[in-house]
Formats: sequence, structure tokens, C-alpha cells
Amino acid sequence: MNFERDFVQHTKRSYELFERAKTLLPGGTNSTARTTYAGWEPYPPFAASGDGAYLIDADGRRYIDYLLALGPLMLGHRPANVTARVLDAVASYGTMFGLPYELEQVVAQQFLDAVPTAEAVRFTNSGSEAVGTAVRLARAVTGRPKLLRFEGHYHGWQDVVYWSNKPSLQLAGLANAPRPVPAGPGLPSVLAETLIICPWNNAEAVEQAFATHGEEIAAVLTEPVMCNAGCITPEPGYLHFLREITRHYGALLIFDEVITGFRLSLGGAQKLYGVQPDLSTFAKALGGGFPVAAIAGVWEVMRWIAEGRYSHSGTYNANVIAMAAVNATLEELHKPGTYEHLHGLGQRLTNSMQTCFDKAGLSTHIQGIGPVFQVWFADRPIRSWRDAALYARKDLFRAFWEEMVLRGILFHPNQFENFFLSTAHQEEQVNATLAALDDAIPTLQKRFAQMERGTAV
Ligand code: PMP
Repeated sequence: MNFERDFVQHTKRSYELFERAKTLLPGGTNSTARTTYAGWEPYPPFAASGDGAYLIDADGRRYIDYLLALGPLMLGHRPANVTARVLDAVASYGTMFGLPYELEQVVAQQFLDAVPTAEAVRFTNSGSEAVGTAVRLARAVTGRPKLLRFEGHYHGWQDVVYWSNKPSLQLAGLANAPRPVPAGPGLPSVLAETLIICPWNNAEAVEQAFATHGEEIAAVLTEPVMCNAGCITPEPGYLHFLREITRHYGALLIFDEVITGFRLSLGGAQKLYGVQPDLSTFAKALGGGFPVAAIAGVWEVMRWIAEGRYSHSGTYNANVIAMAAVNATLEELHKPGTYEHLHGLGQRLTNSMQTCFDKAGLSTHIQGIGPVFQVWFADRPIRSWRDAALYARKDLFRAFWEEMVLRGILFHPNQFENFFLSTAHQEEQVNATLAALDDAIPTLQKRFAQMERGTAV
């Protein structure tokens, strides 16, 4: 049982590519989530191509792909209609104009038809950009300085929100009134004063924060399902509670639907849970694998942009590639049965995995909804960042990842990421995944027992 030896033997080309990449690109990659320090030890497999539910690596190994580029590949790799629409649009009329054009409104209409709680939409390029805009817009409209957000949520890398996403418990203060912790160096410490951090799924903490700072809070920013500390669903009534308390104190409610949007339902988590935020942000699934994001909201707020009182700009916003991609992706997602398929398959996969772990006596909690979930190696359900940090066994998750990746099942090696399903995934891939897990179980039992005895190598 030597993962590194087996992995290196199967991924020689990736090793060569990584050795060269490190000399050119810091960390050998272009985003933190792809680095060794995010979990891709000893090096990430290099991608050669994608094909529906499969990723083929530089050594020609074929994986069933649950990484799905960290979420955007909602239709799998290279969905034919989306690829064709983008290529056709670019070839027939260009990539961008610095002027409005008709396709933008076709796509805006499609978007607003899909997300009934949104009354107007602006397109942009990444989730981080969309969230940055939403937060500043909320401050502009309310004239208030503070943002209430939750420990363990991730809202992109902009200074105003890059705090407390995975804080060390040594720095994070009390569980029911956490301190803002910068996600890294370089963030102006003065921004801590603009943030109120609450534990998620804890109504009392939010009530307390509003009782103390109610008049200063511009907005509550939340992922409607917490998807950046593994996957943690909201307690029944929690999102409705956030809606009511923000309304009561005159603060805005912002749903960051960068992961949940167009994934949990065509209208996102807000449709699924029946809660209307004032603003929401979207990216990932929206573009079917092409870079695009959106900020949507009620007219009462969005009119600030319409009237020029708030500036939302961006050279690349709503370029032809992005709009053609959204246009075709939404058509695909709109097809009857899409979400039934995603939820049904997700349910089947997670139920069967859970049964397999239970039978093997390996203590796990698989949490999520349909096409997004995570396996927690823990002796109790995980309901918040504190639970995740204290009770989730990173070492066991790592052993699970190693055994699965060697058996051709790809997902992120960090326990705080997720498994994603696409419309390209079918029973065939789910069955193959369950067979791989069955095959891995005896080895995992042995490895876990050794780890508990402290004799693992
Ligand atoms: N918000 C959430 C909920 C996210 O999951 C992410 C990315 N994982 C972002 C914002 C940032 O999006 P992007 O990486 O497109 O900037």
C-alpha cells in the first residue's frame, strides 16, 4: 500500500509536466485550488481532454469526473450544443464590441424566466466579480457599512469578502461570535471592522448580531447551501429566518448562488427553498464550462445601476463567447427531466455509497443535495465550520481519495470541496463508481485500522 509509488507509476507524463510547470507558473498551476498545498499531493494529474462524464489525463488514463472543473461542467465536458453555439457565434459575428448587442437581451430574458425571484440581471465574468459588485451595491443602496457573513462560506477572493472561509480555530474566537480572520496576508486589517461573522445554521447568533448592530448592517451574504466547507444544507426554516430578519432591520439579503445556481434547480436554491433574496450571484453552472457570471436582483435595488447611481463596469462583461454559452446552456438545462435526472442519480449514488460505508463499519456522513455532495469521515453529522474543523477526519478522507483516484474516480482531494454530477453522468458511471468503492473498501478498512493504531506509513 504505497499511494505515491502507484500514483507516480501511472502518471509519469503528469509528473514531467508538473516539474516544468513549477518553473514557469507559481505552484505549477493557475489557481490555488489546483496546487499541491490545496491537496493535490504529490502533483495534480494533468488534463489532456474531457469527454462527457470523463476526464482523460496526460498519461491517457480515463477518470469518471466528479471534479467537473470545480462545478462549471454542469453538462459534462464539451457539450455538443454549447460548443457549436459558441463556435458559430464567434465565427459569424465576433467576440466583443464595447457596445450592446441583441443576444444579451435574449439571454437576459432566458435567465429571468429561469430565476423567477430575479427581476433584472447584469452579466460579468467570474463569481468573485459578481459577489464584489453585490456587496458594494448593497452598501450603496442601504448607506450602511457592515456585511454580515458566515464562517466557512467562500465568496471569492475580493478583499471585502476573503475572510473567515476556513479560519484556524486558534484565531477564530468564540463559536457563537467568531472573529473575522483574513484568508491570507495582504488584506487590509481595517476591513475587519466592516465584517460581522456568524456561525451558519445558528439563528440566535444572527439575532444577537442584529440586536447589537442592526442599524449598521447593509446585507447578510450567504451561500444558500454551504458548499465550501464540504456540503452542509440549511436547517429547516433557516433561509426563511434570514429573509425575515433582514427585512425587519432594513438590510438586504444576498444569496451567493455561484455553486447552487442552475444546479439545484433551474431557478437555483432560491427556487428550491422558496426564499426571495434581494440580490443573488451566479457563475459556474450558468456557462456550461465557459467563463461567465451574473448578478441578479429586484428592480428596487438594480435600478441603482439603471440610473447610473452605481457603476458596474467590465470590458469583458457579456462578451459573445459568454452569451452564446449561456444561451445554449440554459436551453439544455431547460429540457424536461434535467433536474429529476440530476437529483435522482445523486440520490442513488449517495444512498448506495452510504450503505456501502455503513456495511463496512466506516463512520461517514454523506451530505448534500442531488448533484452536489461531500463524504464526511466523521462520527456525527457536520452542521457548521466548527464541526467540520473539529470532527471531520482529513486523514481518512485523504486515504479514501487516494484509493478512489487509483481506481479511476476523480474528485478534489480536499475534504472541504465537493463531488459534482453533470447531466452527462448516467447509471453506467454511477455503477462503475460504486464498483470502485466496493473494491476499495477492504483496503480502506485496513488502512483506517492502521491509522487508528498509529502504524500507517
Ligand atoms: N462564491 C462561491 C459560493 C464560490 O463557490 C466561488 C468559487 N468557488 C466564488 C464565489 C468565486 O467564484 P470564481 O472562482 O468564479 O471567482
